[in-house]
Amino acid sequence: MANREIPYKIYLEESELPKQWYNVRADMKNKPAPLLNPATFKPMTAEELEPVFCKELVKQELDDTDPWIDIPEEIVNFYKMYRPSPLVRAYCLEKKLGTPAKIYYKFEGNNTSGSHKLNSAIAQAYYAKKQGLKGVTTETGAGQWGTALSMACAYFDLDCKVYMVKVSYEQKPFRREVMRTYGATVTPSPSDTTEVGRKILAEHPGTSGSLGCAISEAVEAATSQEGYRYVLGSVLNQVLLHQTVIGLETKTAMEKYGIKPDVIIGCAGGGSNLGGLISPFAGEKLRGEADYQIIAVEPASCPSFTRGKFAYDFCDTGKICPLAKMYTLGSGFIPSANHAGGLRYHGMSSILSQLYHDGLMEARAVEQTAVFQAAEQFARVEGILPAPESSHAIRVAIDEALKCKETGEEKTILFGLTGTGYFDMTAYEKYNNGEMTDYIPTDADLETGFAGLPRVPEQM
Ligand SMILES: *Cc1c(COP(=O)(O)O)cnc(C)c1O
Repeated sequence: MANREIPYKIYLEESELPKQWYNVRADMKNKPAPLLNPATFKPMTAEELEPVFCKELVKQELDDTDPWIDIPEEIVNFYKMYRPSPLVRAYCLEKKLGTPAKIYYKFEGNNTSGSHKLNSAIAQAYYAKKQGLKGVTTETGAGQWGTALSMACAYFDLDCKVYMVKVSYEQKPFRREVMRTYGATVTPSPSDTTEVGRKILAEHPGTSGSLGCAISEAVEAATSQEGYRYVLGSVLNQVLLHQTVIGLETKTAMEKYGIKPDVIIGCAGGGSNLGGLISPFAGEKLRGEADYQIIAVEPASCPSFTRGKFAYDFCDTGKICPLAKMYTLGSGFIPSANHAGGLRYHGMSSILSQLYHDGLMEARAVEQTAVFQAAEQFARVEGILPAPESSHAIRVAIDEALKCKETGEEKTILFGLTGTGYFDMTAYEKYNNGEMTDYIPTDADLETGFAGLPRVPEQM
């Protein structure tokens, strides 16, 4: 097989789709730190988490030992509608760059939500339905998660309440309408429909909202209504687990043609797509079976890995969620208003944080103008208009390919292309008009965020 010519697109047969998710925690010697109860600083128990999350998802969240978790048949069948996602050999980009490197990308934008988020949305909606719930609540920033979840809820006939960061609600009316078309209720956050929303509005009148604030509202809405639970589209262990379908498909497809990546690159917001892509490869690395260079890419304006602290922190502005140990900029950190490219959450998946801390992965921060230059270059030769988030990975993939051009190395580069950018044209417009600027927070800006870290006994 190894010598077969590599097609532009490597697809898998339906029968080759993953039937189990891979739980990388099982192979980690240093497990990710547990979620802590913010009142007692003791690890959260299943009983404490179950009023907030679905029972089966709590089990997945706390499972550090089972390497493989069966994907229920209903979910496998839903995946069949839009998966396998294509693994593409970027022949055209390679040629344009004049690089000896071989570039591959796994494209997750082939569904209506336009991103990988549907992979976890459908799983979370399934478990909510199975538990007999009426519906779920969530937050959304740019809108991809809310869209994916509203599609999943429509499929299982569940009510879906989305708290959308106010600035996005106003700037992205089309995303909002997609969600409403799928039957979701969309509320701009902060709102006066929750206690925490009213408190934030009183303290910061005229605020345009943040993800951390919308999370607080969605959690309150779930815990104060009978038959509702809260679901989250990134950061959590369970989300990363569901996203491993990306990495598992990629690995099977590459193995069919005897391809082994040298470098694996993904953008990192809360870490779910990157974690999903790298998990099976990181597992081999953890078990000493193979080695890969893994690179997380984040915006220089929201640099959780490269300039954040590895500490317990609040996951939301209202400080009602459990504490998570992660690379964080502090829950009070809000990226500058000129930041257009998504990936603006202050923290990072605990799993990826631990892998990074243990040196199994590196991280790079890139500036948004350079990200949009890469997006434009990619769009013009590969035909896909990428999401700004995904374009962070494109930037570093191009940088690595250009390094190969200098050294003559024929490295195999794999990156995750998480989605399409059709709803991000305001950001593209800014770039096209030459109005995009780069902002890098000063150390003093970051200190303000760090000052708000909770006083957890172990980090005092
Ligand atoms: C949400 C999103 C991301 C970032 O989220 P992760 O959890 O870090 O994967 C990246 N790309 C796209 C297109 C997204 O919608």
